[in-house]
Amino acid sequence: MSNSLNLLDHLLRDTTGPVRRVFEKSLEGRELDVADAEILLDVGGRDLQVLCVIADLARADDVGDDVSYVVNRNINFTNVCYVGCSFCGFSRHKHEEDAYDRSLDDVLARASEAWDLGASEVCIQGGIHPNKDGFWYRDMIRALKMALPDMHIHALSPEEIHFGHEKSGGMSLADYLTMLRDEGLGTVPGTAAEILDDDVRRILSPRKLMTARWIEIVRTAHEVGLRSSSTLMYGHIETSRQIATHMDLLRDLQKQTGGFTEFVPLGFIHHNTVLYREQGARAGASMPEDLKLVAVGRLFLRPWIKNIQVSWVKMGKKLSQVGLMSGANDFGGTLMEESISKAAGSEHGDHMDAPEIERLITEIGRSPYERTTTYARRQSPVQAEEADPSVLGPSARIPMGSMGSGY
Ligand code: SF4
Repeated sequence: MSNSLNLLDHLLRDTTGPVRRVFEKSLEGRELDVADAEILLDVGGRDLQVLCVIADLARADDVGDDVSYVVNRNINFTNVCYVGCSFCGFSRHKHEEDAYDRSLDDVLARASEAWDLGASEVCIQGGIHPNKDGFWYRDMIRALKMALPDMHIHALSPEEIHFGHEKSGGMSLADYLTMLRDEGLGTVPGTAAEILDDDVRRILSPRKLMTARWIEIVRTAHEVGLRSSSTLMYGHIETSRQIATHMDLLRDLQKQTGGFTEFVPLGFIHHNTVLYREQGARAGASMPEDLKLVAVGRLFLRPWIKNIQVSWVKMGKKLSQVGLMSGANDFGGTLMEESISKAAGSEHGDHMDAPEIERLITEIGRSPYERTTTYARRQSPVQAEEADPSVLGPSARIPMGSMGSGY
């Protein structure tokens, strides 16, 4: 310990004045404010290196050295959407050639296949299809839960809940969410957040729910017992101040409800988007931004949100490993068929199996473990196979590439 204190003293000596004061405040266990976060989000050079070291120490104090991941499958039931977010490369008009709208049977088949492959969670989101009503989501969750009672359903972004609620024929928001919960909805992805600042939202997605409605929906979900993740999309037109204010909103809400399971910074994938091509956005998140979002997320949100996730889809394998050494403690999910980032131009693949995730975590000297959606430990498929080779482990399972052309 004294060695690490000496090392810290030495590192702090090399940092610039205002940044050092924020580091010292954090090391003393005092809560950072928006101005502090803004300073940290603007660091570079040696200050950035020290930020990553301090966030890594905070991570070790908060949650220890183990790194979690979840075996899950993404299912996007439709890419038809009328909202028109300018950062989205995924959505289609319903008459476009590659538009799709999966049937309930198709969604069920994908979820069943995921269960057979060892998944504990399906993450289900889709475009906002104008022909659906407020009860299609309910029917989908009901059908999934009847077929796969032990599968955790992590589904419906606040935008989808907003849409479903508006078309529910006058139900209160709490009643609508309670109905979904009672049918088997387990948790809610805290997506559709992008930047919780209406000036930014009016440029990115003028037809999407605004900040106050996002907070209302997530708060009400937490109040009826539906926990959620929390996210932030960076690397486009936002400022450091707007990122810091977004994190402050999340932390405030967490203090009130305790409903967030984790924070997931999501770098903007720019290639196939109007936001980049026509609206002057930066060309996606840089490496320093990726690391700063993880590290500042750790220092700003502690002790309220303990799990900081790296998105391997956005950051790639090696930078995700560096993120795990800069404040993160969760590797996210196996995904099996990620398609939203891929449609925007991400080149980091659409699935990663559990042994590969465990290999990447072990490679940086940390211990992997499989978790549930809400961060309980689950015996990993790798461990199950090692304990009993007759168990159908991941190496014996169907490789994803042979799942048929529809996948
Ligand atoms: S981000 Fe979601 S809501 Fe926005 S256009 Fe894409 S699919 Fe639609």
